[in-house]
Amino acid sequence: MVAATRKPVIAIAGNPNSGKTALFNGITGARQHVGNWPGVTVEKKTGSVVHEGVELSVVDLPGTYSFSSSAIDETIARDFILWENPDAVINVVDTTNLERHLYLTVQILEMGAPVILALNIFDEAKKLGIKVNLDKLEARLRTKVVPTVAIERKGIPELLTTAIQMVKNRNQGSAKFTIDYGPAVEREIAELSQLLDTILQKKVRTSTRWFAIKLLEHDDHIRGKLFKGLADEQVKQLETRVAMARSRIQQETGQDPTDLIAEKRYALTAKITKETTTTPEDVIRPSTMVDRILLNKWLAYPLFLVVMLLMFQLTFTLSDPIVEWLGGVIETFSEWVYGSLTGLGAPEMLVGFLTDGILGGLGAVFEFAPPIFFLFWIITLLEDVGYIARAAVLSDRLMRSVGLHGKAFIPMILGFGCNVTGILATRSLDNPKDRLISILVNPLISCSARLPVYVLFASAFFPKHQGIVVFSLYVLGVVLAAVMAKIFSLFIKSDSTSTFVIELPPYRLPRLKDILIQTWERAKHFLERAGTVIFISIIVVWVLSNLPPNIEPGSPDSLIARIGGFFAPIFKPAGFGTWQASTALIFGALAKELILGTLAVLYGAGEAGLAAALQAQWTPLSAYAFLVMSLIYIPCVATIGAIRQETNSRKWTFFAVGYTLFLGWLLAVVVYQVGSLLGFA
Ligand code: GDP
Ligand code: MG
Repeated sequence: MVAATRKPVIAIAGNPNSGKTALFNGITGARQHVGNWPGVTVEKKTGSVVHEGVELSVVDLPGTYSFSSSAIDETIARDFILWENPDAVINVVDTTNLERHLYLTVQILEMGAPVILALNIFDEAKKLGIKVNLDKLEARLRTKVVPTVAIERKGIPELLTTAIQMVKNRNQGSAKFTIDYGPAVEREIAELSQLLDTILQKKVRTSTRWFAIKLLEHDDHIRGKLFKGLADEQVKQLETRVAMARSRIQQETGQDPTDLIAEKRYALTAKITKETTTTPEDVIRPSTMVDRILLNKWLAYPLFLVVMLLMFQLTFTLSDPIVEWLGGVIETFSEWVYGSLTGLGAPEMLVGFLTDGILGGLGAVFEFAPPIFFLFWIITLLEDVGYIARAAVLSDRLMRSVGLHGKAFIPMILGFGCNVTGILATRSLDNPKDRLISILVNPLISCSARLPVYVLFASAFFPKHQGIVVFSLYVLGVVLAAVMAKIFSLFIKSDSTSTFVIELPPYRLPRLKDILIQTWERAKHFLERAGTVIFISIIVVWVLSNLPPNIEPGSPDSLIARIGGFFAPIFKPAGFGTWQASTALIFGALAKELILGTLAVLYGAGEAGLAAALQAQWTPLSAYAFLVMSLIYIPCVATIGAIRQETNSRKWTFFAVGYTLFLGWLLAVVVYQVGSLLGFA
């Protein structure tokens, strides 16, 4: 009988922005998000490939700078290598930043994992005149080294061949890679690993030397995992020994053991880099020069605002003609459907359902969707070029001033696409309190689903200032997120001490194909929602507006008008106390695009168009108040789900819903009342 053998598992690990995902995509043909800034991948992704007749399972791990932090994404990567025993680990490094990236490499090697080093971004290294002595590097690291250019799929076949070779030779035992930590530490490591040997009795695959080092480093996460299966006395015995060892090291060297160990690793990577690579002395990277302007103390923020404003203006300039054209097409089509159906003698009910319901509601959502695509396109472009990473640096200072970790900016940026993605990205924050605050304020960041709503109202009420009106809502979202984060941090005390220096990727020429793929992947998400949640909800809206039977559809007698009418008085002080507005907000809590779809069904767009119908009931001021409400109130259902999952707390989920609802209402009222006082009504 043939024993079932599992597919060999190849893990891809490395620092953020080293090209892991590009490599993963190159190997598996997947289309995961490749972004020119750190922090994009926070979950592991799996794919597979057949090479030389062997099927391999490939896992893209989140980027990590080291294995000594407690951030969820870093522990995901480390735990995977440690406990899931991948058959080979492809460690991707950025050859243009070899020394810093090797810091992780030596840690993976220390774990005893079978490593292949992918010297990625080899093309840029070559251009910069960086030379690497491959043989020497292999000898120093005692492992295989393969130069790669992930985005061009160069070096991938060699990488896979090496991986398969490694899997086949797995049982022959590879050369052990160890770091010499100096006599004081080495003595303690030896003693401690001896003790671990007797206690663990080969229950772990990784060497006891490695666990001993981790204990000396005071790594809580590993200590917790290691001690889990042990008896109380054994834990106590180990704890005492570790404490003793640490204080002996401290006494002998005058240094904190954790720092000392990190220092030795840094010294080693510096030494290896020096011995194996030559960098021309006078490389001033072009990026550095551009950054002198774009990150200049005085120019940076004004330039940032200009870039953002241009982004919105461009979004509208590009999408306006398409929106207009789509509107015409949908209207003509709708008329044609109406004409043919009535001609065929179809029941009035069915005709109404198809034209006013489906075509009206879904049509409106589609009609105002093009700006989403263009916004995605421009953001992807900025990301690929490397500007988004600069934006992160600029916001870093802002985040710190509101008491958040600088890294908290990454979830915020992703929140512009979708709050669910943003909330998932908070996993890169190692402090649980920072993480909670970031989750709670993320829904205030204006996600792309809200954009069509803004576009409709902006084009109906502020045709000349669309860009600025929409921009102001985005800014409002960010400002509120910062203010609320500050307020929350007063109550949720955060003892954040970790420092974070975001790594600046070089500016790169955008690659058209990748950008189109990314834009499409993001747009697909929108289309999927339109086809499911939004489609079904619009049917519900239509049905409710046609019940009870024998009423004028969508009239004040309809069921939906009564439901909306019940809540309408609450919004009177905000200037939009109509049942239509309340109904739109109710459905908008499922998915924000539904605000638009619902309004279209309720006003039955008709010949005059949705904009005209809105102008009859809204003023520019109440429209703006309504947009403020739409921005802030209740995260959509998917986001609520994400909050529940990531906080693992019903209390915080309710809180997020409650405070946004109240805040949205409050600000809408303030906008309307203050605006009226100033005479804008
Ligand atoms: P990850 O964070 O490690 O997953 O990195 P990504 O795969 O998202 O890539 C980061 C950036 O490096 C993107 O802008 C890629 O286009 C770029 N990149 C990745 N590999 C290469 C390479 O071999 N050469 C060059 N020139 N750029 C690369
Ligand atoms: Mg990635």
